[in-house]
Amino acid sequence: MNKRIIIIGGGVSGITTALTLQLLGFKTIVYAEHLVNDEAPEDPRFASLYPAASVIPHSINSDELDLLFPASLQIFEILKEKQFESLVMHRHFELFEFPTDLPAYAKYLHGFAEIDRTDDEIIPRRSSAGKCYGWVFDCFVTEWPAYMHHLYQLYKKSGGIIKQKKVDKNDIASLPGDVVINCSGMWSAELFDDPASQKFIRGHLVHLPDKPPVRDSKNRLCSYNYTPVKSEYATPEGDPSDAYFYPVSGKWILGGSRQTGSLSADGTWQGTGHNETISISGHQVPSAILDLNNDILESSYGVTLGTNPAEMNARIGYRHTRKNDGLRVTSVEAFNKKIIHNYGHGGAGVTISWGCALKVLQLLNNALNINDMKQLASFGHPVLNGLQLQLQRVYWNNFHASESQS
Ligand SMILES: Cc1cc2nc3c(=O)[nH]c(=O)nc-3n(C[C@H](O)[C@H](O)[C@H](O)COP(=O)(O)OP(=O)(O)OC[C@H]3O[C@@H](n4cnc5c(N)ncnc54)[C@H](O)[C@@H]3O)c2cc1C
Repeated sequence: MNKRIIIIGGGVSGITTALTLQLLGFKTIVYAEHLVNDEAPEDPRFASLYPAASVIPHSINSDELDLLFPASLQIFEILKEKQFESLVMHRHFELFEFPTDLPAYAKYLHGFAEIDRTDDEIIPRRSSAGKCYGWVFDCFVTEWPAYMHHLYQLYKKSGGIIKQKKVDKNDIASLPGDVVINCSGMWSAELFDDPASQKFIRGHLVHLPDKPPVRDSKNRLCSYNYTPVKSEYATPEGDPSDAYFYPVSGKWILGGSRQTGSLSADGTWQGTGHNETISISGHQVPSAILDLNNDILESSYGVTLGTNPAEMNARIGYRHTRKNDGLRVTSVEAFNKKIIHNYGHGGAGVTISWGCALKVLQLLNNALNINDMKQLASFGHPVLNGLQLQLQRVYWNNFHASESQS
């Protein structure tokens, strides 16, 4: 068997999976049509160009979240400890103007408190809001696109190879490896059979350049997702919708929208949209994203957006998943090879990237009948060594033990 592992895709799923496998003893090669760099064409289908990019399991459907999310958090923790550039911590609020159940993932969040039990924190709110509900926690936020650039660098340092090349469906059988990991995001259904129907949730982001960080009295960076009553902001279907705010790398990132629809073969969007919009850098952005954020920021932190729309930059991306089936991290036989899929992360591809990479490793070890911990080479690099040790530890404690169930 040819043990060279092929990864298709150079977004956050592809590079995280490739780095994980490379550090844990495999020889890997990434084939990616596009990478997150200045040459990437603006294409809302390439989701890794557009995340906010916080570590919160929003808009994701997976019955393995209790495995994938805490595993990811443990890897982000070691990256933080090793002072990995472009990973920061925010005091992050999830707020609602109506009573809301705590999410199941709350138990994994650090520094977690329900907001009526916090005493010394400013709670972001709309000036005319009534009672607010929700919670606050210490949230990892990755600074984009720098986080991706650092992952590419680490991967290359660890001996990984990236070939910038489009793989055609007809080429898959002749790729030089017996195992192919598919991290091609929404293109997966073009390259491989998928019995599930595909689902797309369109999201708008607005970047405001040259903005100061917003901090609380303890000097912690603050961010929020804020869902007002639906008369103030709703999805085109009429469900409550959230506005969000992240101060990242000298700019502010505002969102968001959740518009459902489908894509035609040439990538044209056919779906819902908001009625009240403002034109920013050629995109029609729901006006509520600016209005709500301006109100919340002014009444809570005493700052305003204050920037002319002409100086703002809007982006659109598609959160891709599978309608009823959600995330696909499974192993199948096709093209005379073992294919391990890793796609359909919805709005949480960054959040669960490390957990999914370890799940891929589990499927790979099963396929190759590997049961023992490998003797691993040291890289003489503090981040790579720390990451390698933590990946091994988290895999062994969480994924190896549950192998029989996969
Ligand atoms: C507005 C918005 C906000 C978001 N915010 C967050 C957030 O705050 N936190 C979070 O965790 N997630 C967030 N997400 C989700 C996150 O961006 C995605 O889940 C993630 O980027 C998916 O990454 P991926 O690598 O799986 O796919 P993609 O980024 O789409 O990458 C696919 C890769 O496959 C390659 N490829 C495709 N076909 C081929 C081929 N035939 N040959 C070779 N290469 C090929 C592409 O070139 C690309 O490199 C957000 C998404 C959007 C749209």
